[in-house]
Parts: sequence; structure tokens; C-alpha cells
Amino acid sequence: MEKMKQAEVKMLRDEEWREEDGLMLKEGKVYVPKDEALRVEIIRLYHDTPMEGHGKQWKTAEIVTRNFWWPGVTREVKRYVEGCDTCQRNKNHTQQPAGKLMPNSIPDKAWTHILADFIPKLPLAQEYDSILVVVDQFTKMAYFVCQKCQLQARIKPTALYQR
Ligand SMILES: [Zn+2]
Repeated sequence: MEKMKQAEVKMLRDEEWREEDGLMLKEGKVYVPKDEALRVEIIRLYHDTPMEGHGKQWKTAEIVTRNFWWPGVTREVKRYVEGCDTCQRNKNHTQQPAGKLMPNSIPDKAWTHILADFIPKLPLAQEYDSILVVVDQFTKMAYFVCQKCQLQARIKPTALYQR
């Protein structure tokens, strides 16, 4: 029986190719004819199904080429996976996930929590050209301190305590 089956296998061109049950095999893998829809469907079956769960390019290519072959199969898998909408949306981000928003603690006394900001590049007035705004988060009181623009970067905390 085994011999009969072997006799049915037609050797074509060279050792790599043979025909079996109406399928063309190359090195034991099913040759998929030049049919774009069929090739895409095969990749889809080995990539999109819940069992395969959108494997990475190399993984999908490895599974597809276990059973199928056509010229440029790996390249086509790559293109397919790169274009896969689900994969794009679930891509592993190289950035750390953003931490939870941590609101500032709520002050219970005046002048323990302040916010400071500059209003820069104002028209020059008595050699000052910017304003340092300091707001107390508890009372919402604000101080406006005249500044020279070039001092902004080097403002000392003591400038605040003087007020
Ligand atoms: Zn995918």
C-alpha cells in the first residue's frame, strides 16, 4: 500500500517538487499559487485567529512556513503584520506607562504650598521687564515681584522669603 502511494507521487523538475493529492509540494510544504486573496487568507489564519493571538512577524512567518511556501512568503507576512490594525493598536510601547496623576497635597496653612511662575518679556519699566508671580495655594494670595529678565533662571528662594 505504501509503495502504491509512493508511485502516485509524481516527481517534477527536481527532487524539491512533487505533486500529492492535487497539491504542489515544495520540500514537503504546500505551494500556494499566485492568488493574493488566498495567500492573505492563509496569513490571516495564522495571525489573526484567537489561537494565534497576533503573533509577532517572525512567529507568524515561522508558523505559516511550517506548512506553506510561495516566493516571498516571509516578506508578505512582514507586510501583513505591519499593516495589521490590531497589532498597531496593541503595539508594545517602548516608553514607560504614564504613572497615575498624583495631585498635590492640600495645604492646611497659609504659605506652606506656593506656585511660582514668570510673566516674561514685558516692556521695560524702571529696568524691570518681567514679573515673578507667587501664589499661595491655601489663601490664593499672590505676590508680584518685578524682575529683570536675565535674572529669571537664577532667582534665589530667598527672594521669596524677603516678602
Ligand atoms: Zn495582528
